[in-house]
Amino acid sequence: MSKTYSRKRFRTQLDALVPSTTKKRRIFPSTPTLQHYHPSTLPLPPLPSYTTYEPNNPLSYLARLRTFHPSLYSPFLPHFISPIKLAGNGWFCSSRDGVECRCGAKWGVGGLIDIKDPRVREEIGRRLGEGMVDRHMAGCGWRILSCPGTSSFFLILTM
Ligand SMILES: [Zn+2]
Repeated sequence: MSKTYSRKRFRTQLDALVPSTTKKRRIFPSTPTLQHYHPSTLPLPPLPSYTTYEPNNPLSYLARLRTFHPSLYSPFLPHFISPIKLAGNGWFCSSRDGVECRCGAKWGVGGLIDIKDPRVREEIGRRLGEGMVDRHMAGCGWRILSCPGTSSFFLILTM
């Protein structure tokens, strides 16, 4: 047997590690990246549920972002905990100044807007923003992967 490694041999060796009675291939080629472009001349397709875990799907992101209605979530909170950042990390607005994730985690920023000193309010907002990933329950996918922060991801929202 040849000692050189090829992609085919590598896949065969990986497949052999998993006992199987079938010859079904276990290592699949990578799938093409999702298309994030949606022409502004076309209506938006139906949005998925805001509870779906699809970090690379801008429509799922938009569905979560739409839950942050100004009557529920104050637009004057520090930018560290803006709806854009929260929705990008899997959070949706579920109550007055409260956010929730599909994993069952909940937290809120009620009372933050009432802090008189803007420096204190910003600092608390910054710390809350830093911990937004850690507030997901253990095993929640949003702890591992959040929405990409590239500008191309947000094209759909600016068209
Ligand atoms: Zn979660």
